[in-house]
Amino acid sequence: MQSGIKKLILAGGGHAHVHVLSQLAEQRPADLDVILASPYPWQTYSGMVPGFVAGRYEAHECQIPLEPLVKAAGARWLPGRVTGIDAQSQAVRVETGPAHSPEEHALYYDRLSLDIGGVMERDRLEQTIPGAASHALLVRPIEVFATLWPKVVELGQEKPVSLAVIGAGAAGIELVFAAEQRFRQTLHPGSRFTLVTGGGEVAEHYPAGVRKRILRRLRSRGITVLREACTAISAGQIQLSGGASLACDAPVLAVPTHAPGWLRETDLALTDNGLVQVNEFQQSVSHPNIFAVGDVSHRVDVQHPRSGVFAVRAGPPLHQNLMAAHEGTPLKAYQPQKHSLNLISCGAGHAIASYGPFHAEGGWAWLWKDHIDRAFMERYTLEKHLPPEPAEQGGEES
Ligand SMILES: Cc1cc2nc3c(=O)[nH]c(=O)nc-3n(C[C@H](O)[C@H](O)[C@H](O)COP(=O)(O)OP(=O)(O)OC[C@H]3O[C@@H](n4cnc5c(N)ncnc54)[C@H](O)[C@@H]3O)c2cc1C
Repeated sequence: MQSGIKKLILAGGGHAHVHVLSQLAEQRPADLDVILASPYPWQTYSGMVPGFVAGRYEAHECQIPLEPLVKAAGARWLPGRVTGIDAQSQAVRVETGPAHSPEEHALYYDRLSLDIGGVMERDRLEQTIPGAASHALLVRPIEVFATLWPKVVELGQEKPVSLAVIGAGAAGIELVFAAEQRFRQTLHPGSRFTLVTGGGEVAEHYPAGVRKRILRRLRSRGITVLREACTAISAGQIQLSGGASLACDAPVLAVPTHAPGWLRETDLALTDNGLVQVNEFQQSVSHPNIFAVGDVSHRVDVQHPRSGVFAVRAGPPLHQNLMAAHEGTPLKAYQPQKHSLNLISCGAGHAIASYGPFHAEGGWAWLWKDHIDRAFMERYTLEKHLPPEPAEQGGEES
């Protein structure tokens, strides 16, 4: 290894890491070698995926290309998936190439930052919902979901479709509204839409007033709500916990994500459900040279939801602390906000806004969401981060 050069590995091109890369594009320490290990050449921005499902956005409008960001940051991209960490020898295992015959790489790091999100592991899903892995359309990886959704659209052009979204958190709610809108406006009429909650209430983590608004809207759109768990999925039907079955051509699985199983094989301190425990600096409580943010992490000092909003907000403090750790200066504590603005789209054109106990809805709320989402995309797009010719790496942003 080159003396004096430190290696920073960014695992995953999640919300916070695109910010870190954008900041490195402005200024990267000359003695810092940065590698991004992420399986796809773009980040599919989940906030805009319901708008894509509804037909309001094209796929490319929801994708942040990672390669240009990496180039501008003077970093390197390894198109692969991190599948292990040997914290003792400070190495990550990265698999590249096809899943059936991957090539393994071991990369040494001085510092490692994890922003790999939550996952829906097929083996684990099969244990709770047999048939899910082969018959359902999973919302994670979201890059794959976005590629497969057009097949559902094609089906809806041929015949009326029965579509069920399984999972009634914000993502599931937005997706069922979006699908209903897409089919009603442009595809075969006579399709049926169902939201399967898992047994609990729709949007159960939201204030009662927000829930009421969502339920009213679901009713007005003719979307059926089933407060049951989905226990199995087979070709053309889903099985419900009450014993009934539902004819379903397109089961969409939007159940909560979980931490990747391979983390349990590492020495990292994890929560009971496998998330990386981090302190006020977003630093692993067991391994100070490892940082973690977003849905794969769990702050031990404060509670906050696992959502894109919080993953985005963690970007600037993560960048500051990665640089401080590199320079050997004190890290800065980061306090996530207590409340966040939540905007739940009910199909493109209408959204429900909530902030703490306050809530309201209308077309204006959707325009607000559209504005925030587009601003996020624009901030991290290629052009802005390309250094002006013939600028040196690490020069000022254009
Ligand atoms: C349809 C939908 C709509 C949503 N809408 C909203 C919303 O409007 N507002 C909101 O706050 N939240 C929303 N969410 C939740 C939000 O998507 C997540 O909370 C957010 O994506 C978490 O961000 P992250 O940076 O932790 O991870 P992610 O955004 O999941 O990014 C992880 C990145 O790491 C890569 N990766 C994964 N595994 C590996 C690996 N092993 N090695 C290397 N790289 C890896 C992935 O390809 C991806 O680029 C929505 C979710 C869905 C499914």
